[in-house]
Amino acid sequence: MSGPSDLATSPGQVLSLVEQLAQLPYGLEPVDQLAHALQCASLAEQAGADDEVVVAALLHDIGRARPVARAYPGAPHEEAGARFCLARFGARVAWLIAQHVPAKRYLVATDPSYHDGLSEESVVTLRQQGGPMTASEVAAFEAHPDHAQAAELRRWDDLAKQPGAPTPPLAHYAAYLDRSWCGS
Ligand code: FE
Repeated sequence: MSGPSDLATSPGQVLSLVEQLAQLPYGLEPVDQLAHALQCASLAEQAGADDEVVVAALLHDIGRARPVARAYPGAPHEEAGARFCLARFGARVAWLIAQHVPAKRYLVATDPSYHDGLSEESVVTLRQQGGPMTASEVAAFEAHPDHAQAAELRRWDDLAKQPGAPTPPLAHYAAYLDRSWCGS
């Protein structure tokens, strides 16, 4: 029987899933999902992020890849992506991916200039996502040791929507996936 655990059993198969994002539009954004993933990973790399953070940046929307979405029916994309990555890249990568939507709600609540930089599409989805975090949600988020990385990843996510922005090819990230791999 096939299930979520058979979906991608090597870093190379995970790269193939990322490649499949090329067929997917990104809502009303001017880049496809593969360009978005590559730009996000490239921004993380340029900022000197560690391997797991670069992997989380590359894979933050992997829950939108059709095979991953199908494996976790009913789960929002950040949750499907986090569950997919937990057994393959560990709890830290999974947490960062799970938090990329809450991190937007965190930044809106804590950085007055952040909201102005969001795309129209992102402002619309913010409402669906619950709007700004409450003070107690902000405190809970800040209590996590990786909250600053999660917030940074979210800023790269927002910037990674530039049509035609040059990035390394997908194969460049194979080494990051290999080093962070903890699947069997
Ligand atoms: Fe994204």
